[in-house]
Amino acid sequence: MDQRPIYLDAHATTPVDQRVLEAMLPFFTESFGNPSSNTHIYGWEASAAVKNAREVIAQIINATPEEIVFTSGATEANNLAIKGVAEAYFNQGKHLITVATEHRAVLDPCAYLETLGFEVTYLTVQSNGILDLTKLAAAIREDTILVSVMAANNEIGVLQPLAEIGKLCHSRGVLFHTDAAQAIAKIPLDVAAMNIDLMSLTAHKIYGPKGIGALYVRRRDPRVKLASQIQGGGQERGRRSGTLYTPQIVGFAKALEIGVESMKSESERFMQLKQQLWSMFEPLDGIYLNGDFTHSLPNNLNLSVEGVNGSALLLALQPLVAVSSGSACSAESTAPSHVLTALGRDEKLAHASLRFGIGRFNTPEEITTVGKIAIATIKSLRTVI
Ligand SMILES: *Cc1c(COP(=O)(O)O)cnc(C)c1O
Repeated sequence: MDQRPIYLDAHATTPVDQRVLEAMLPFFTESFGNPSSNTHIYGWEASAAVKNAREVIAQIINATPEEIVFTSGATEANNLAIKGVAEAYFNQGKHLITVATEHRAVLDPCAYLETLGFEVTYLTVQSNGILDLTKLAAAIREDTILVSVMAANNEIGVLQPLAEIGKLCHSRGVLFHTDAAQAIAKIPLDVAAMNIDLMSLTAHKIYGPKGIGALYVRRRDPRVKLASQIQGGGQERGRRSGTLYTPQIVGFAKALEIGVESMKSESERFMQLKQQLWSMFEPLDGIYLNGDFTHSLPNNLNLSVEGVNGSALLLALQPLVAVSSGSACSAESTAPSHVLTALGRDEKLAHASLRFGIGRFNTPEEITTVGKIAIATIKSLRTVI
């Protein structure tokens, strides 16, 4: 029993890359100072490391360092973006637009705002999970203050047309936020070219540490106002108080640097592995691809399986393959995925789904093994009635 299951759940989290860990280590024990301490070298070292990391991250998304606000991850970044904008702009309007397939870290802050008197439109998607831009255009009103559409879906991997959405939002004078937790270092993201006003990022999906992320907040054309959600020492220009977590910030920047450097070759490799896995399932009856094979993350494959019980399938795979049936964050709930039901999947097929998330350290041999195991398991479950 020393054989651990093959990890194929990269949309839930990823291991820390060794190079990232090494970059982080000195900041736990040697250069451990508080970056806000400006009276001694311990603080200066930490502050210089944070400054450098901020510059690296900003440059990668074509922003300026002042536009980066460090947070504990994408959940907090989404909360800050949505609630922070709502609170700062409520005089101009109380209407927000988002999409039914967003992560709970977007949907739940929106639901919270509804309890405060804001109005939220939840757009439906096409059967492949992609937003219909004419629907978005029609939903924008005089009193709309924010549109929030994710870059890549965490369950089915589909990519939303960010540049077109950004262009539309700017032409209508509405702020555009995107949750790019899954997309960063997988597809090119340029906040200037794509007219993005706010963008949520996280490190642990890109081989960085957990507990660190950032919100990009545009400073010019337009300058985005944001009400802070955590008050205290005034760090991050008052937008997010709390002592900066130097090792995590250094690790985040390093992970992003590696991710973007290797993005092209890694994407091509992921695409081959995804094709390899799909070609094993494709000949089977009753297998449905959720999402859009080409217009999606190269490392995502989400399938619904007819004729099996979803929980039984995951249970049978557990000792051999670490996968999930959708979002890890709603893993405890027995309700089918809100993303799959939004695509029009019936409850049974939405429940019997497998989300494969291919990662940096997976090999073609592992993909073959996983395909064989999953197919054998599906076949054996189908014979039981
Ligand atoms: C993982 C994820 C989040 C949550 O990020 P944390 O950093 O874990 O808080 C939010 N949105 C999407 C799309 C995600 O994939």
